[in-house]
Amino acid sequence: MKLAMIGFGQAGGKIVDKFVEYDRETGSDVVRSAIAVNTAKADLAGLENVPERNRVLIGQARVKGHGVGADNELGAEIAEADIDEIQGALDDVPVHEIDAFLVVAGMGGGTGSGGAPVLASHLKRIYTEPVYGLGILPAEDEGGIYTLNAARSFKTFVDEVDNLLVFDNDAWRETGESVRGGYDRINEEIVRRFGILFSAGEVREGQAVAESVVDSSEIINTLSCGGVSTVGYATEQVETAGGGLLGRFSDGELDATETTNRITSLVRKAALGRLTLPCEVRSTDRSLVVVSGPQDHLNRKGIERGRKWLENETASMEVRGGDFPVGDTDHVAAVTLLSGVTDVPRVKALQEVAVETQDNIDDIEEEREENLESLVRDDADELEALF
Ligand code: GDP
Repeated sequence: MKLAMIGFGQAGGKIVDKFVEYDRETGSDVVRSAIAVNTAKADLAGLENVPERNRVLIGQARVKGHGVGADNELGAEIAEADIDEIQGALDDVPVHEIDAFLVVAGMGGGTGSGGAPVLASHLKRIYTEPVYGLGILPAEDEGGIYTLNAARSFKTFVDEVDNLLVFDNDAWRETGESVRGGYDRINEEIVRRFGILFSAGEVREGQAVAESVVDSSEIINTLSCGGVSTVGYATEQVETAGGGLLGRFSDGELDATETTNRITSLVRKAALGRLTLPCEVRSTDRSLVVVSGPQDHLNRKGIERGRKWLENETASMEVRGGDFPVGDTDHVAAVTLLSGVTDVPRVKALQEVAVETQDNIDDIEEEREENLESLVRDDADELEALF
């Protein structure tokens, strides 16, 4: 699947930057265009792989390249006002070569949280290609404001995109990790999962053609139910040709059985293990299974069985599946895309904290106004203002 990726804000830019690196390393040729948009000059300068000319600084008149803090209303306003500058970079996207747009942003901050939904709405107005979002939810310990920003951005972003793929930082943080080190690791996890998903169907030069191909139209069909999606992933190391394991079986049948069982078990682990957004798998509307790995460790029967299992698990008839042979790896991996999920306790919890925070902010604001009033006025209200 070929994508034009736009990273909005710091997290969005860093993740798109990583996608470009992944694309180059794996030769998967998924990222046809990479654009980074920000109100903070320093964040754009820190990118390594997004081409210089595709780094768009917006809001210079308002915030002078210093960012919007965590003010996502300002982020949205600036995106709206400077949409032409973003369009300038979009004009270079070879639209006839892409299957979809992907707008990536951290939803807890200001620039991406406010700007990404504005950009998605603009893209949908201008182009006919699907517009997907990849939204990053903040960890719980980031505090109330980030949670409130994320909840408001989530509500808006879902409405503006054809499908919102979600990654929850909270489900992925590890104790004792520095924030920076943590993000580096988490960003790799993000890019690996979504990278395999989007790479499926992109046949590289000299590479084996899949037995049951997943092409971009199947990803699009899976996502076309709209709403919110989450991705699962599981992997297992295998002995490749020349290694000892294959030689141990004289009977080719046994190899096939093992291959089939491994694939089925990986699909199960992917769907029931840690998802990018934890949810109730049964609430899935449509899903897709992609199994990648060395050609001789993939087979149609395994994928078929994995697909059937997921059909049961999700209680949905729309389960697509296919394989994605990769030459230079000794791992078989399964990726499951669960699309249109509706039972997501994490989102409900996020909304609860957000509403509480919003009420607190209103109370504090009211109290602050009262306190200021009583400070400025003399007790008997005898003094007159100048004008
Ligand atoms: P913005 O620049 O104003 O859009 O805000 P940021 O992107 O800096 O931060 C928004 C949210 O994104 C934060 O609250 C974090 O939850 C998250 N975040 C920031 N940087 C990263 C990153 O590198 N990776 C991930 N996964 N999340 C990040």
